[in-house]
This record gives sequence, C-alpha cells and structure tokens, in this order.
Amino acid sequence: MLYENLEKIIEDSYDETVKLRRYLHMNPELSFQEEHTREYILKKLKEYGYSDIKENVGGNGILATYDSQNEGPIIGLRADFDALPIQEETDLEFRSQKDGVMHACGHDVHTAILLSVAKAVKASTDPLYGKIIFIFQHAEELPPGGAKAIVASGELSEIDYIYGLHVHGNDKFDGKINYCSGYAMAASDNFEIKIQGAGGHGSAPHMTTDSTVVAAFLIQQLQTIISRKKDPSESGVLTIAIFKSGEGAHNIIADTATLKGTVRTLNPEVQALVESEMRKMTALICEAHGAKATVSYEKGYPAVFNHKEPTELVKNLFEKKFGAGQAEAVAPAMGGEDFAYYLEEKPGTFFYVPAGIPEQEINYPHHHSKFTVDERSMLVGAKAFSLIIDHYLSGAKTEGSDTDKKAGEYA
Ligand code: MN
Repeated sequence: MLYENLEKIIEDSYDETVKLRRYLHMNPELSFQEEHTREYILKKLKEYGYSDIKENVGGNGILATYDSQNEGPIIGLRADFDALPIQEETDLEFRSQKDGVMHACGHDVHTAILLSVAKAVKASTDPLYGKIIFIFQHAEELPPGGAKAIVASGELSEIDYIYGLHVHGNDKFDGKINYCSGYAMAASDNFEIKIQGAGGHGSAPHMTTDSTVVAAFLIQQLQTIISRKKDPSESGVLTIAIFKSGEGAHNIIADTATLKGTVRTLNPEVQALVESEMRKMTALICEAHGAKATVSYEKGYPAVFNHKEPTELVKNLFEKKFGAGQAEAVAPAMGGEDFAYYLEEKPGTFFYVPAGIPEQEINYPHHHSKFTVDERSMLVGAKAFSLIIDHYLSGAKTEGSDTDKKAGEYA
C-alpha cells in the first residue's frame, strides 16, 4: 500500500526532519534573499535522488519533479521557505543565529514537511501513476511574492491539482487538520489618499481650503463603504492607519493632508466596490470643499479561494484514515497568502495544521518574536500530503468521480 509505505518512511525519518527544520530555523533568510536556504534544499533533493530539478524559477524558486513514468494525474505540492525581519526572543537551543531575522511564521516547518514527503516518495518501492511537482517557493512574506512569478514562469501549466498547507501556531497541536472551503484568506490592499487644499492663517479660514477638516470628513465617510455600501453578509475591513496634516504652529492651516490604510476583503466584487467607492467619495467630498485629491490604491495578494472538491477530498481522506472529526472546518481569516495565485490557475486547496505547543500556556501568534511550533505537526502535514499522493497516484482511484476532474473542467 502506497500510503502505508510513505507513512513508514516519514515516521522513520522524523528525527532527520526535526534536525532539518532546526537547521533552517537557525539559518533564516529574508524574502528574495534566500540563497543559502535554496542551496540547502537543492542539496537535500539531490541526496534523495532527484535529478529533474528546475532552479531559479521566478527567483529563488525550486521545482523538483517525481515522474513515475506511468500515465496519471500531475499534482503540485507547495512549501514556502522565507523568513521575517524579526529579532527572535525564544530560549530555544536552535533559535535563529542571524540578528534580526527569524522563521516566525513556520515556513521552516513547511519546507521540512515537503522535503520529508519528497524523500518518502523517492524511497518508496510502490508503483506510482502520474507525476508530482514539489514546489519550494521563495518570498511568500513580501509582495509581489514568489508565487506569482512561479506561476508566470509557465512551469506549472501541466499540473492538474495543487495543494499547500500552513501550520497554525495559534491552535494547539492535536493531530488534526483544519480546512475552509471557498474564500479562506483575504485580499490585502493598501491605499494612500493625498488631499491638496490651500493653507493660510488659523484666524482666517475663509481665505483657505482646510485640508485637515476635509480629511476628517473623509475618514468618517469612508467607513460607510463598509457599513452602508457592501452587502453586510460579505466580509470587509477598511482601516485608516495614518493621518498626517500640518506641523509647525498652532495657527497654521495645513494645505495638505495624507491618509494611509489597508483594505481586506474576501470576495473580489467587494474589493472592486471598496476601491471604486473610495475613489468616488474622495473626489466628491474634496470637490465639495474645494480641495483636490489623489488616491493610489495598491492591490496586494488576491484572496485565497479553496476549491470545493479538492477541499472536501482532503477532509475525507484525512477522516477516513484518522477518524471522523479529525478534520475540522474553520472560518475564513483576514490574513493574506500568495498561495492564492496558484489557486487562481489550478483547482486545489490550502489547509491548516494546528501546531501550538499544548503544554505551553501562551502560544504567541505568527510574526511574533516568541513564535514557536510543536514539531509533531510536521508528521501530520506530511501524512496529509501522503494521503493526497496516495489518492491521485496509487492508480486505485475510481473513474469519473468529482475529484478526478481535470483542471480545465473547473469554472
Ligand atoms: Mn506564512
């Protein structure tokens, strides 16, 4: 049995996976600067016997292909490997050796998981049917990110399905996985509004166009896009994080004001609505007061949309193997992930592995200087990937089921 054999190899090499993860954790590298990490992954893949390896895909990206030489589906499995500009403050013996850089999101864990799966597949003696492309992705943390460039390279065009996972430090490790069908993570956009009024003496406002007063109006009004314009059943957040106008003296009316903030949405229609309403409202409010405005709206990663069948497949495979209730549905979250780009092209899903340390009272959130992970989550992640491989490539799947649809058949 393919799955059982993969599982055995993964369990037998758990100590090595832990070592590997700790090495990555001690040697973190920032987005787009992952040269050493890249070399390390390449070395491991070659050690495991991979020769069909594409380097520098869209940057530091690596694609390693396992080709069974038998006809069958082609699946993509992805792990990211960049770290964050954070000074680690844990007491771990394998804490970051690099000042100001830390694996504070678990990407070291993701890479160790995928390498352990790649090793198991290569070492397994079962006949497989199809191909697996192991995607090691650079620069998830920093837009424009690595995923977009890897997709643009065209190297994934053959893939039928794509899967990825993220460990969740906020949920305690319990051997389960979590999933979310449909929109699961938010599109994350930034905006900047500049209001040009006309400055002057604080005692003579009638001789000026007070940009501070105009901006204050606008701050109030922009929130009505969320509360009055969008469908209340849809998610959306608009936050103004920075408001700057005037400096110097008590009696100077500022001629310019600047607002900066972020917009988070799940549904692209809501995203488009927020942007267009923001532009309209800004222009009209400024016009009413005799001021001029410029709006720059920068789109970040799109929302992560998990396709229904692949999401249910992962849930069903996991529960069939480990018992009912072992895969739990979770609500969408407003964080961002560039895995969204793969899911715009191919059917698949991005699922989660609870990885907080159960014995630890406080599990610090992702991107925190004290973020930690229960390493047993690596076994759970690797087993989930192995179940997916077993489903598609063991040659035993039933013809014509929903999950056997080719990529092109999805709307
Ligand atoms: Mn992450």
